[in-house]
Amino acid sequence: MIKKNRSKKKDYTALNITKNVVQHTVHNFQYIKGFPASNTWIVHSDNDAVLVDSGFGDEDSFLSLKNYIENRFPKIKIHYILLTHNHSDHSSGSRKLAEYFNAAVLIHPLEEKMLRASSKSEHGPVEIKKKRRIWEKEKKSTPIKEYIKEGKIITAGKLIFQVIHTPGHTLGSNCYLLKNDKLLFSGDTILGYDTVTISAPPDGDMNKYLESLRRLKRFKLNYIAPGHGPIINKPKEKIDKLIFHRLKREKQIYDLIMEGYKTEQKLMKKIYPNIEKNLKSSAKNQLFAHLARLEALNKIKLQIEKDKWKVI
Ligand SMILES: [Zn+2]
Repeated sequence: MIKKNRSKKKDYTALNITKNVVQHTVHNFQYIKGFPASNTWIVHSDNDAVLVDSGFGDEDSFLSLKNYIENRFPKIKIHYILLTHNHSDHSSGSRKLAEYFNAAVLIHPLEEKMLRASSKSEHGPVEIKKKRRIWEKEKKSTPIKEYIKEGKIITAGKLIFQVIHTPGHTLGSNCYLLKNDKLLFSGDTILGYDTVTISAPPDGDMNKYLESLRRLKRFKLNYIAPGHGPIINKPKEKIDKLIFHRLKREKQIYDLIMEGYKTEQKLMKKIYPNIEKNLKSSAKNQLFAHLARLEALNKIKLQIEKDKWKVI
């Protein structure tokens, strides 16, 4: 065995998905136990490559990915780093990678504002807070070469990508369709396990999210390569399940409101009776995203005061 890695035990997983696609995941603990760390997808053909998302921006995570790429593909030319959205677990590795490999970083224009902003999220264990500060700093200094919108085609050697704008998780979330493999890189729009988190409005949007899912269903796909978790082999079933789950949750919320559960506190207690502390703020976001959609559909009216909301 060649010992190139500096740490004693392997700090990443790398899987060959198709002949063009490698899934690289640095084992970083993020927020919640059991929540898989973000994926970086190495898309390659001959010596041309594109990265979808960049992983984490701390030095160890960067070195893990950089060393893997150099050992496995010594002559590689990375043309682009395609970011699915602004969140630091997807974007913060890109400054170091872009400089080292001389690659161009691309993202949807609607992500610019949040990319430069400080994240409000402070939940999670202490040991991760120091790292998160580094990720946030790196995220903000992401060097964007070009802003890419719906329909744009990106090529690198034989590789062909189509940009699909899928607002919802964030307003500027992009999916990237690798035409060669009919494989969709979905970022956090579709995850490799059962839940999805919609950022709180106005950054996230449940109404747009459902529209985005319905649009994605129209593409002929062999695989979905998600932002977190394993490759999805049954794209249509997965998307249907997500839509079904969201509409079911929405009906549950609407019915509860009609029964008189109208404040944040009452709804949270009823819908998430035994929720873990770490998950509470993201559950609150989900609920708020659903209420905002119900309001957009003219089914309810919301009143928001000092970050607390209620149905009136
Ligand atoms: Zn995200």
